Amino acid sequence: GKGIAVFTSGGDSQGMNAAVRAVVRMGMYLGCKVFFIKEGYQGMVDGCENIVEATWASVSSIIHKGGTLIGSARCAEFREQAGRLKAARNLVEKGITNLVVIGGDGSLTGANLFKQEWPELLQILLKQGKISQEQADKCKYLYIAGLVGSIDNDFCGTDMTIGTDSALHRIIEAIDAIVSTAYSHQRTFIMEVMGRHCGYLAVVTALCGEADYVFIPESPPPEDWPDKLCHNAGQRLNIIIIAEGAIDRNGQPITSEKVKQVVVDRLKQDTRITVLGHVQRGGNASAFDRLLACRMGAEAVMALMEATPETEACVISLDGNQAVRLPLMECVKRTQAVAKAMADREFELAVKLRGSR
Ligand code: ADP
Repeated sequence: GKGIAVFTSGGDSQGMNAAVRAVVRMGMYLGCKVFFIKEGYQGMVDGCENIVEATWASVSSIIHKGGTLIGSARCAEFREQAGRLKAARNLVEKGITNLVVIGGDGSLTGANLFKQEWPELLQILLKQGKISQEQADKCKYLYIAGLVGSIDNDFCGTDMTIGTDSALHRIIEAIDAIVSTAYSHQRTFIMEVMGRHCGYLAVVTALCGEADYVFIPESPPPEDWPDKLCHNAGQRLNIIIIAEGAIDRNGQPITSEKVKQVVVDRLKQDTRITVLGHVQRGGNASAFDRLLACRMGAEAVMALMEATPETEACVISLDGNQAVRLPLMECVKRTQAVAKAMADREFELAVKLRGSR
């Protein structure tokens, strides 16, 4: 059977373990040898000791767990060719040319680059005498299937990323908890949620938590937002949700502190800020995320099984209720185009690009 390696990279999210489990079990079911690469690209760069064979039992009792048990890292070396050469050498050493990468847009961008560069990396390693001709021939093609693990739901091409649904649960639980303790006082609560470029978590939790106002990066409020904000406010209880990356029309951050100041100055209301932070990434994976991860992990293995030398790197996406394979390169490009549109403050374009699959 083929050798498949699975790793998690970048920011962790709930459901990553479920995805790892699905890859291991589906791979083994189909007769493959499946390997973990510990600590993401860093492990791949550092050496073969981080590449260990998985067993059926090694992924037992992890489907629910948040975070990633095989470790994740940010790896500066992998951004340079020298680092990718080391990573390639370690994979060749192990005879592994099938990769399942579970990570956010950065990790998938790196994977895309790795795949494109692979023939060149092999040539260099050959010239340097670090691998044999036989090894180079055996490992001529690199196959990659990506799974998007991110609580932000910020990747183009998929309806939902693994972890988003669990993060929504965490935030809603926090809003409900605050509402129940706070109702007896006349207060305004400002909740800051994650989402540097993407307001998905903020918008959905604002709707589900009956928020009075929401600030998100891709739709900056009108200039007179302080008036609008305070128009309805002043009720018994007000909830304001802010995505961490919220900005105004000039690209200046709208911080929780800034909003608090407005409410305090104009309404003289007791106002509290809650920054949820990493709580949103923690806790058990929701049923939706477990199922999503199972389906995507299995589909990733199928994609690798069916790949031919002409097959492009793919990302497994959720399209309606279907798990589909999309070209990784196109999804990465579109995701980068969204980031650029946001940086250029072309918000409508950003929303349009993100919305279209
Ligand atoms: P995420 O995958 O959650 O978006 P990062 O953006 O930090 O997180 O990316 C994770 C890792 O992926 C980086 O530490 C780096 O090793 C690799 N990576 C990201 N972008 C690139 C790139 N343009 N080229 C090569 N590797 C990259």
